[in-house]
Amino acid sequence: MSQDSNNNHIMSTYAPMDVTFDHGEGSYLWDQNGKQYLDALAGISVCGLGHAHPAVTQAISEQAGKLIHTSNLYNIKNQQQLADALCAASGLDRVFFSNSGAEANEAAIKMARLYGHSRDIAIPTIIVMENSFHGRTMATLTATGNRKVQAGFEPLVQGFVRAPFDDIEAIQNIASNNNDIVAVMLEPIQGEGGIRVPDADYLSAIRQICDDNDWLLILDEIQTGMGRTGKWFAFQHTDIKPDIMTLAKSLANGVPIGACVAQESVASLMKPGSHGSTFGGNPLSCAAALAVVDTIKREQLIDNAVEMGAYIRQALHEAFDGDESVTEIRGQGLMLGIELKDNCTALVQEGLTQGILFSVQSDNTIRLLPPINLSRTEADELIDKITRLITQFAQKLAA
Ligand SMILES: *Cc1c(COP(=O)(O)O)cnc(C)c1O
Repeated sequence: MSQDSNNNHIMSTYAPMDVTFDHGEGSYLWDQNGKQYLDALAGISVCGLGHAHPAVTQAISEQAGKLIHTSNLYNIKNQQQLADALCAASGLDRVFFSNSGAEANEAAIKMARLYGHSRDIAIPTIIVMENSFHGRTMATLTATGNRKVQAGFEPLVQGFVRAPFDDIEAIQNIASNNNDIVAVMLEPIQGEGGIRVPDADYLSAIRQICDDNDWLLILDEIQTGMGRTGKWFAFQHTDIKPDIMTLAKSLANGVPIGACVAQESVASLMKPGSHGSTFGGNPLSCAAALAVVDTIKREQLIDNAVEMGAYIRQALHEAFDGDESVTEIRGQGLMLGIELKDNCTALVQEGLTQGILFSVQSDNTIRLLPPINLSRTEADELIDKITRLITQFAQKLAA
């Protein structure tokens, strides 16, 4: 056991694997012993441009040498520029910057409540989904549709009701029975829940119900955003727009930042003093995010996510169609899930041994979130390693 696997003074909120990475470049990581890994998880969709991207490194270094932090008490040029870029890419109007995804969602929840009170709804209530993930703060763990995330932390926060994901009738039923609803909050594709892709008409149908009832549509694009699914934001696969969208994860390629992006009609409810964050949107994190936005455009990485995503899916279908150990291959762009018939949590360790990183969600779904600048050669290696792992695993179970 290496020195670093001694986590005695770290709270046991995670059970980390026995590996310590030393450095990375692009889609690869190297551990302390010099072993190389293909990173098909990218820090859970955070390092969308891969590791040590020169444009991000340069932006961080230059900004760190100039100014790391001032305060939101003053104008911050990088923050204004980043807000401009996010609004241009999304068609939304205003941004609040935080430091994490959960905080971005907290801002969205607070705005939904302001909106409800502006309409004289005393207990503004948000519809959230089964199987969803929105974060670990008290409000966001309440919004999360996973008992494991909530257990032991009761009392939960008031003002949420739950519906099954990808079920329009369930939303309609709530609409006709509950006058306190002010918003629907969901992930366009459920990430932690196992790469659950709803029906193609689902988001538009929800948008319609929201319009009919004067509810806000809040999309949590923390995992799906910034090119991951083959559009800047996953909602752009449809012709609707949310009232509020949240971002974090890959926004600054690993420098902590979150964003709550909204239409003017809702954003205008936020006044000086309504909300805040000491670090949120500081010059350093915004410099990194600006470099990410610029690189995605310059290197046409959204097209690459479409192309490489289709390429990997095609190869997976060729490898596993008709194979009963693989139940379903799903996803969009470079957000992919491979559902196996059996519990395959053990595959994560096996992948580590064989030099590839990914996660398993809901016990039976391999989740792939490689960098969106993945090359064809790297995609081939990913396909080769994953198909071999799955085949060996199925053979072992059958034996
Ligand atoms: C990761 C994630 C969050 C939480 O983000 P944190 O930065 O960990 O707070 C919220 N929603 C979704 C969809 C996520 O994937």
